[in-house]
Amino acid sequence: ADREHTRNFSIIAHIDHGKSTLADRLIQACGAVTDREFQNQLLDNLYLERERGITIKSQAITLPYLAKNGQEYELNLIDTPGHVDFTYEVSRALASCEGVLLIVDASQGVEAQTLANMYLAMEHDLTIVPVINKIDLISADVDATRLQITEDLGLDGDEALAVSAKEGTNIDQVLEAIVNKLPPPKGQAEAPLQALIFDAQYDPYRGTVIFVRVMEGQLKQGDFIRFMHNGSSYRVEEVGLFKLRREPAKALRAGQVGYVIAGVKTVSDVDVGDTITNNDHPAPAPLPGFREAKPVVFSSIYPVATDDYPELAEAIEKLKLNDASLTYQKDYSQALGTGFRCGFLGLLHLEVVQERLEREFGLSLILTAPSVRYQVYLNDGQHLEIENPALFPDPSTIDYCEEPYVKASILMPDRYIGTVMQLCLDRRGEGNVMHYPSPGRVELISELPLAEVIYDFYDKLKTVTQGYGSFDYEFIGDRRTELAKLDILVNGERVDALSMLVFRGGARPRALHAVNKLAETIPRQQFKIAIQGAIGGTIIARSTINAFRKDVTAKCYGGDVSRKRKLLEKQKAGKKRMKLVGNVPIPQKAFLAVLQSD
Ligand code: GDP
Ligand code: MG
Repeated sequence: ADREHTRNFSIIAHIDHGKSTLADRLIQACGAVTDREFQNQLLDNLYLERERGITIKSQAITLPYLAKNGQEYELNLIDTPGHVDFTYEVSRALASCEGVLLIVDASQGVEAQTLANMYLAMEHDLTIVPVINKIDLISADVDATRLQITEDLGLDGDEALAVSAKEGTNIDQVLEAIVNKLPPPKGQAEAPLQALIFDAQYDPYRGTVIFVRVMEGQLKQGDFIRFMHNGSSYRVEEVGLFKLRREPAKALRAGQVGYVIAGVKTVSDVDVGDTITNNDHPAPAPLPGFREAKPVVFSSIYPVATDDYPELAEAIEKLKLNDASLTYQKDYSQALGTGFRCGFLGLLHLEVVQERLEREFGLSLILTAPSVRYQVYLNDGQHLEIENPALFPDPSTIDYCEEPYVKASILMPDRYIGTVMQLCLDRRGEGNVMHYPSPGRVELISELPLAEVIYDFYDKLKTVTQGYGSFDYEFIGDRRTELAKLDILVNGERVDALSMLVFRGGARPRALHAVNKLAETIPRQQFKIAIQGAIGGTIIARSTINAFRKDVTAKCYGGDVSRKRKLLEKQKAGKKRMKLVGNVPIPQKAFLAVLQSD
């Protein structure tokens, strides 16, 4: 389609407000899919996403739409990841659009993520069309939601469309608004090529499929292209549109959204946010806003059965093919053997990787406590970046340390402000400021150490606000801190995989929590087990598991041999999921329990 008849848009919403459901309705209404092909929430490709109801990676689809004015339009819907871990991907997807549909659940109203997403859309100067969803619910309050849209978001609440994505009510109004309210893309097909990469996926037959929005110029088969930031060049094999399947096209012109296949081996060879230009007629400069996706949370992953290491290595390599932001390197633990030290964009990303490794590859894993990356300045002037407790230097050589901080925005009904404020103070929150975006609601801004946020902040927030609090954060830099390495000893032996870097002032409760969790989950033995938390040579917490005398087979009375054998076999299988430290078997669930909050 020509530029005048192209619309590039995204849907933004707080989680569960109905983004995926609305996307499905739009796809159906445009007849892009036959009902037989239709699967609910088509855009959430990974089963994992569907299960969790969240969109992890962005997806795109081109919808042909015959508008009421009789004209045919090409609507490009770019779906964005719905979680704070993927804010940069969201920003690149939004940079590929001219407008957004901003969804607000009529029974929930405006939430933290609604606001955060709207700010992102505003940063990209996008036209925002508010849509009130779930009007079919008895608890829907459309008028109150209109008022909130006007007062909290500064948009025109009276103009907001009122729909039910679930029941398909007023979907035609949404499509007409996309055509009539969103501007067509700018750009000239004759200009030097600038195409923004907003995603990349691995295809085992074709290599990397690059998702692009062409800003200027055009892209076609045979072109010699260059990635302006990473400097590599390739020959274009195929360009095309995202229909239900990839559909090859002659060219992608300024304003269009589509894919490029150019013999790029892995997604790690492509940076989201990079600009593709024509090597023979290059653009003078790349598009603005490029940033390297950097891991911020680190954890080591080990197989429970040491001989599963080759399977783990293969599985991680496969995952990496489709996940450029996952980093890993070989790691060794005395207690757990060979594994990988991995870097993630955030805790959700970590959980997704863990779940995929366990479910898709059938692995049973142990993860170490997630850590952030600390800046360590030594007395001799050296500067280290440490995210692995095993590499923490001798404290006597350290001048000072810094840890990453985030600015958190927490939205809640005002009755919770007291407990939430206390929670932030307990988690070393600084510079707490309150706003009242509307009567009855309060927004608390707090500057928190990222380490506190990844520990259990979100769970605690949900608990103290009975689920009403919502939360969003951004990085604001590193700040001075007192760090210590907390070791856990089992019968006097240090379990290296349980060591963690902690804030000195909070070390005792963390140590107590860890030793108590271990005492609850390590099975009794024929001998007494001492579990201790220590910093350097000083024990700061302890717990004991008393001896257990009875033989497990005793209750089988001698006679029933087959039953006895079965029990022993069962025990053996159980041992496989245990790690022997000294002479104490530590079950997988003990390692997990240490990571959980109460
Ligand atoms: P997303 O997280 O924003 O993608 O939200 P989903 O599209 O996954 O929807 C979250 C939940 O709300 C699902 O259980 C949907 O079935 C439900 N939902 C979505 N739209 C509507 C609607 O219009 N009415 C009702 N009653 N439920 C809806
Ligand atoms: Mg969704």
